[in-house]
Amino acid sequence: MLDVCLLGTGGMMPLPYRWLTALMVRYNGSSLLIDCGEGTQIAIKEKGWSFKPIDVICFTHFHGDHISGLPGLLLTMGNADRTEPLTLIGPKGLERVVNALRVIAPELPFAIKCIEITEPMQTFEMNGYRLKAFRVNHNVTCYGYTMEVDRAGKFDVERANASAIPQRFWGMLQKGETVEDGGNVYTPDMVLGPARKGIKLTYCTDTRPTDSIRENAAGADLFICEGMYGEKDKQKKAREYKHMTFYEAAQLAKDAGVKEMWLTHYSPSLIKPEEYMDEVRAIFPASVAAKDRRTVELVFED
Ligand SMILES: [Zn+2]
Ligand SMILES: [Zn+2]
Repeated sequence: MLDVCLLGTGGMMPLPYRWLTALMVRYNGSSLLIDCGEGTQIAIKEKGWSFKPIDVICFTHFHGDHISGLPGLLLTMGNADRTEPLTLIGPKGLERVVNALRVIAPELPFAIKCIEITEPMQTFEMNGYRLKAFRVNHNVTCYGYTMEVDRAGKFDVERANASAIPQRFWGMLQKGETVEDGGNVYTPDMVLGPARKGIKLTYCTDTRPTDSIRENAAGADLFICEGMYGEKDKQKKAREYKHMTFYEAAQLAKDAGVKEMWLTHYSPSLIKPEEYMDEVRAIFPASVAAKDRRTVELVFED
């Protein structure tokens, strides 16, 4: 249902075997990309996924390791003869930053629409899913993102028959559409049970732990969170540079009651993130020190 790939896991600068942190999600024929640092298009190529269906790119914030790959990616998408419009979402100032980067990618065969986030929390409905941007705490304005896919209730044949709803309308009602036929109006709630648990994915990077993360990640199937440092003695540094340690990320995952947590955005000085995982899993057992291109398919339960 939701194809999720963490394209890279690096923070600050790309390394030979670690691209910068970026997330790509495929759903229902469209793709969403969150962050696009230097080399993200190579990471997409390595994964073997297509640039073409990318119709939304979200930015957490305007530090180079999260946006400097944009002009190259736009040029590549242009060379692939894309003509469908592209939506960019990011903090205030997005349009100014994108226009500056586009000095080196001025002519593109598709339109770009910039949406600037102005509220502490903002919701966008698009392509059959819901995207929520929520403010986090970094040294510049920064947002995390939650993606949710709803799941309607089960179709109740007995109720449909009891209300004498013609069978030819069942499919539309199941999709959530209201049907009018002669003088009769049929609504989905007449035939559907209570809504079932959908799919939820939360991504946040470049931040201290915040209540907004705890709230927005609550009950997520997958929580992808920055872990800049594994070394215990870097706690002070994490606080100073507005990043997190692995242990802070694990505590957030525990507080939010998520199903699984992947760490990302490692400091370039951190060579072997897995070395610290025993202690991380003591806080939150379902923690993973993600590596580049870690992929999962999130599906509805049962
Ligand atoms: Zn960063
Ligand atoms: Zn940053």
